[in-house]
Amino acid sequence: MSRSKNDLPDPLILAAAGAGIAVLATGAALWQRRRHRANRGQEETIATDAPHWTLDKTSSRAMFGKSVLIKCIIGLIKPDKGSIETEVVVNAGGMFAGEIGRLAGVTVPIIPMAHEYLITRPSGIALDIPTMRDPSLLVYFRGESGGLVMGGYERNPAPWGLDGIPEDFNGKLLPEDWERFDELMTNAVVRVPELEDAEVISLVNGPEAFTPDGEFILGESDVRGFWVAAGFCAHGLAGAGGMGRLVAEWIVKGVPSLDVWEMDSRRFGPHYRSREYTLARTYEIYSTYYDIKYPGQERLAGRPLRLSPTYTRLQELGASFGEKSGWERANWFEPNAASGDESLRPRGWAGEIWSPAIGAEHRACREAAAVFDETSFAKIDVVGPGAADFLERMCDNRVARDVGAITYTQMLNPRGGIECDFTVTRLAEDRFRIVTGTAFGNHDAAWIRRHLPGDGSARVEDVTSRLACLGLWGPAARDILQPLTDADLSNDAFRYMRAQEIAVGTVPCLALRVTYVGELGWELYCPMEFGLRLFDTIWVSGKQHGLAAGGYKAIDSLRLEKGYRVWGADITPDETPYEAGLDFAVKLDKGDFIGRDALGEASKSPPERRLACLVLSDPRSVALGSEPVRVDGETLTLEATASTAGPAASSRKRDALRCASIASTVASFGPMSSGVPSSVATTRRKRPSSSITGILNINGEALPRTGFMTILWI
Ligand SMILES: Cc1cc2nc3c(=O)[nH]c(=O)nc-3n(C[C@H](O)[C@H](O)[C@H](O)COP(=O)(O)OP(=O)(O)OC[C@H]3O[C@@H](n4cnc5c(N)ncnc54)[C@H](O)[C@@H]3O)c2cc1C
Repeated sequence: MSRSKNDLPDPLILAAAGAGIAVLATGAALWQRRRHRANRGQEETIATDAPHWTLDKTSSRAMFGKSVLIKCIIGLIKPDKGSIETEVVVNAGGMFAGEIGRLAGVTVPIIPMAHEYLITRPSGIALDIPTMRDPSLLVYFRGESGGLVMGGYERNPAPWGLDGIPEDFNGKLLPEDWERFDELMTNAVVRVPELEDAEVISLVNGPEAFTPDGEFILGESDVRGFWVAAGFCAHGLAGAGGMGRLVAEWIVKGVPSLDVWEMDSRRFGPHYRSREYTLARTYEIYSTYYDIKYPGQERLAGRPLRLSPTYTRLQELGASFGEKSGWERANWFEPNAASGDESLRPRGWAGEIWSPAIGAEHRACREAAAVFDETSFAKIDVVGPGAADFLERMCDNRVARDVGAITYTQMLNPRGGIECDFTVTRLAEDRFRIVTGTAFGNHDAAWIRRHLPGDGSARVEDVTSRLACLGLWGPAARDILQPLTDADLSNDAFRYMRAQEIAVGTVPCLALRVTYVGELGWELYCPMEFGLRLFDTIWVSGKQHGLAAGGYKAIDSLRLEKGYRVWGADITPDETPYEAGLDFAVKLDKGDFIGRDALGEASKSPPERRLACLVLSDPRSVALGSEPVRVDGETLTLEATASTAGPAASSRKRDALRCASIASTVASFGPMSSGVPSSVATTRRKRPSSSITGILNINGEALPRTGFMTILWI
């Protein structure tokens, strides 16, 4: 039976219904969404272009367009209902989600892991005892019908069903595996000696969908209309209600009501197509589940995977590598520690993973120059005759400027929240290059693709892997680069926020005069195979100018000091540019763009909360997130989003708690616009007063640029 578009079944979506997650978007809700879209002019295109899935019981298959067969997603379709035509399918297939995804060409990086716990016979344990965990012993306990449940996360976990989950494995358990459980049993008796004599009713051994980073997988996939709600990592029952609601509102309203970037299906890159890689990462997550993760702790599994052409040179220079989105990236260069200051090591956990080299590289960049390998940055081209108009509709800033112009902009959701934050460079009339954070490429490209015009006048190309990128910054950057090129690098000939094709030595480069560290300099992009030569050329020229090799921790410290935000940490879909102090990037008068209506409303009154930069008086204290801050004797729960010490960095994502606005406190912090020291101001572009360019102390007084900072929401 086929259905017309407006005759939607109720409940509509959800092909593979999970036991734990109940994602029910009703036909009525979707109907509302359609009407809503139809009322919003341009967004109507999205509705009319939406793909339609046909779930067909009689032929035991589901079709996406005409090409992809989804044999499995038939469970909910009652025999007498025939086929269902729908815009949305949610893959909530639990540990089957990977297999179901593959049928639609979607990677859902899930590994079923056999998880075990035992249940003891009731022995009079109070029913209301709290759940207890002993991470050092890898075990948890909770009461169950007067007995005890004890389970844990063993060091030698058991991935299961890697060569395919048996089709009839539904609601079943695996045989007891006492040998594997032995480690946990031994540990548990240390904490609860009575367990040794307790009568065990059963040892439950069940496979559960784990993910490579231990977070859920939610949201729309790269295939339009194919959603995922899976990978619940043994806490799917606890998360079911909230996650079901989030996914439902995400489908209906287009965005979730909370920032769920950590769970967003778009956080995974194409390298997770590899089962070997996914398995290695997931195994590590499971087996270290209860371990302390110090701020800045790096994962080890599956490395090294994605290598910049400079990798071996950075190794020779003593790089301490970290990993992001599979890329090996220098966090710092240990030999630089000799020029740093060990006495500034942050107190407590923040000082565990830290090096004085970070401060040394920070200072080198401010006082001479540093070269940073930024090859991992995601680069996305938007191309086509309609690219300019399309990007104008997507961005809050005016980006369709003359060829060579670089624009810092955000893309907003309809609430005015920041979905993406990056620079856009116009390379040609019909080509724009977006450079965004290493981890945000998939997310940003997906957001853009989702809104592409239906007439094919614009398309997206991910060019990340084609281009190496080096950032050369510092007061001496021009002195280092000028002898290497025929191009005139003077301020008049090569202005800030402009791009030019130049040659550096023998390397053809696209040079962007842009900075994420607040110093004079260029980002130099060249085809991948030239990357090592480019690095060596700059390195040789830079030696006489005090050039240092710099790592990402120094970048983080420098950018925080300058007040540049990081999407996903300082700013998220929950904040508007006004709240983030990015008013200067909003051009309400340029015509319509997504989020403009919400910003128009928001611009009528001062924001209730603003991102603020504070300097802590203790140079070794680093705020890691959600610390209470005392202002004039009053304790306020301000929310730290990132911090740096002396100068060195430790950045951490904040959690979901957020303080309410406190107008008087906002006033006492003052605007975040002053304080750029004159020694470095010459190398900087002055920003309008609404932006963060300087550092204030708690009384709103400008501080010199040597502080110990944290960014907070106030
Ligand atoms: C031993 C163990 C202990 C656990 N303890 C806890 C705990 O204490 N707290 C907690 O919160 N969570 C716990 N969990 C995890 C929790 O059970 C899961 O996270 C949750 O059930 C996952 O829900 P789901 O909807 O993603 O998947 P599932 O519950 O597995 O549901 C997926 C459903 O999809 C169906 N399906 C698959 N393929 C198709 C198809 N092609 N067509 C139609 N239907 C399909 C399956 O039959 C299944 O019914 C535990 C899990 C295990 C194994």
